[in-house]
Amino acid sequence: MAQIVLNDLLKAFEQNTAINHVSLTIEDGTFQVLLGPSGCGKTTTLRCIAGLEKTDGGQIFIGDQDVTRLSPAERDIAMVFQQYAIYPHMTVAENMAFPLRAVKTPQSEINVRVEEAARKLRIEKLLNRKPGKLSGGEMQRVAIGRAIVRRPQVFLMDEPLSNLDANMRAEMRTEIKRLQVELGVTTVFVTHDQLEAMSMADKIAVMYGGIIQQNGSPADVYDRPFNLFVAGFIGSPSMNFVSCILSDDGNTLMLEGEIPIGIQVAAKERIRRVQTGKQLILGVRPEDISLRKDNPPEFEPCEVYVMEPLGAENILDVRLGNHSFKVRTPPTFSAPIGARLSMRIDQCRMHLFDAETTLNLTNPVRLMEI
Ligand code: ATP
Repeated sequence: MAQIVLNDLLKAFEQNTAINHVSLTIEDGTFQVLLGPSGCGKTTTLRCIAGLEKTDGGQIFIGDQDVTRLSPAERDIAMVFQQYAIYPHMTVAENMAFPLRAVKTPQSEINVRVEEAARKLRIEKLLNRKPGKLSGGEMQRVAIGRAIVRRPQVFLMDEPLSNLDANMRAEMRTEIKRLQVELGVTTVFVTHDQLEAMSMADKIAVMYGGIIQQNGSPADVYDRPFNLFVAGFIGSPSMNFVSCILSDDGNTLMLEGEIPIGIQVAAKERIRRVQTGKQLILGVRPEDISLRKDNPPEFEPCEVYVMEPLGAENILDVRLGNHSFKVRTPPTFSAPIGARLSMRIDQCRMHLFDAETTLNLTNPVRLMEI
């Protein structure tokens, strides 16, 4: 088990900079997720840690050792990929034993480790089966089993669940998380699926354009996004965004289209560092808006554009002037298209972003570890 440190890592493919001076410290035993849209550099970062890509600058440490120039075999890591590459002619037990055989581990030790891994993954009954007779989820367990028998210092996983159906993914998420806690092995897990990231990670590094935009706990990136990209990428439905300006007296948010929203007393502290007269973007999550059928103080009149019933909750799309807000409501709250309601933004949970720099002005705590 070991800490991983990326220090000013740089990797380019000809003119294309895939990793742009990334620094990240992954504490020993952490489940670290690299999350971001396609092409943001997460797989390249993982491949650099594995030693499968040569870096163009910076250093990689695993434990106390500078592994930047070491081969993958010398790094004491185990990888699990999306394509799990199980050998079809070998049984499950033989597949799992393969990496131990490769380093000439005695047979008695191989048996102990394969049985132990199979028990942890609940595939003891499958040990004599050939992969052709396994489900996708079972094959993924075998691939993970093959990684854990080696007892490496670090697990590296690249979208290992993306070939599975929705139910199996949910089940394997739980299994991998439980296993990681049990084994305590530092794990780097690449995904573009925010639900996967939120449900499994101790820390999520949100990447975009080869840069770590923010690294923090799931609660950090959800509740205290560092910038507009993180705020928009995390959460489903996404955070609502509207252009606005804070009035000179600091008492009103003027939404684009001259819609004034009074600043709530409780939110004064939150906007303390926000400059007046500056072009801003208001960000508010769907669950931080309340809807009412009457019109109490602090509520603004709005109209229902559409309602999406999702079973456990309803998502209402309401219009305030020309602005559209998605609002999460309990399943018991419904309203027909065109219904006139009133809405209130919980300003103690709203975010104001600088429209120019995209930084979150209501979250001055810099969580970014770069
Ligand atoms: P995805 O989720 O689609 O795998 P990613 O976030 O993992 O995306 P990377 O695969 O790390 O992104 O790619 C980062 C950038 O580097 C992309 O612009 C990609 O096109 C480029 N890239 C990655 N591998 C190579 C390569 N072998 N040759 C050239 N360009 C590459």
